[in-house]
Amino acid sequence: MNVDQDIKNIVILTGAGVSAESGIDTFRSAGGLWEQHKVEDVATPEAFARDPDLVLRFYDMRRERIQQVEPNAAHYALARLDVAWAGNLLLVTQNVDDLHERAGAKRLLHMHGTHLTAWCIACDERHPWRGTLTDRPACPACGIAGQLRPDIVWFGEMPYRMDEIYHALNHADLFVSIGTSGAVYPAAGLVREARQKGIRTLELNLEPSHGTSSFAESRHGPATQVVPAWVDGILGG
Ligand code: NAD
Repeated sequence: MNVDQDIKNIVILTGAGVSAESGIDTFRSAGGLWEQHKVEDVATPEAFARDPDLVLRFYDMRRERIQQVEPNAAHYALARLDVAWAGNLLLVTQNVDDLHERAGAKRLLHMHGTHLTAWCIACDERHPWRGTLTDRPACPACGIAGQLRPDIVWFGEMPYRMDEIYHALNHADLFVSIGTSGAVYPAAGLVREARQKGIRTLELNLEPSHGTSSFAESRHGPATQVVPAWVDGILGG
């Protein structure tokens, strides 16, 4: 019997590894540096308070970069699964690029925010944003200049939509983690939650991650190979 036949509801967590073959550096690819910067210099509220120019310039460059790359076979395979899957499916991404949605994924949630919105800390409105923030533009809603920040969940801040993620996990039969190091919490803790609820767990990653031992099953290789193969299998099954 194919055990995949028992699966109706799926939660998928993706991380930077799913976008690596599109040409976006993963977080830890260069020995703990993100694009030559220490995390604490660019991805914390303290860094933003200390040196807003550096932080805004860093995210302006990342925002520009993601608009120059294309989704890869892993993003397309997950979008294909989203369209074809009759049960519940939630694609939770830690990624702040828009490659899942550009590939066509709909049941998608960005738990760490996105490069393509800006957040006004004066009026709390969020706006679609493709340009720069270093030049301190005015908020389109309240008109105050210099109060827009990247709509990114920095270290020490609360990820978005955790209630929806836990709700989906509570009703899932399968939890799949793709291209994530298992080092950033609370995302890294989802596999343990899943195991405690008796949900099947699968890791797809280039190599064994920090959390590999927490998964019932792991498959290793580049996302553009292992993800389409897994999607073919589960749709075929
Ligand atoms: P991470 O960099 O900590 O880990 C990436 C994981 O992907 C590693 O386990 C690595 O082995 C794996 N990997 C690398 N290349 C791969 C490939 N070709 N195929 C499959 N797996 C591959 O990233 P993370 O776990 O997502 O956590 C870092 C944080 O950094 C997240 O919060 C995320 O928001 C942010 N981030 C996002 C992006 C993006 O949006 N594309 C890029 C860098 C960092």
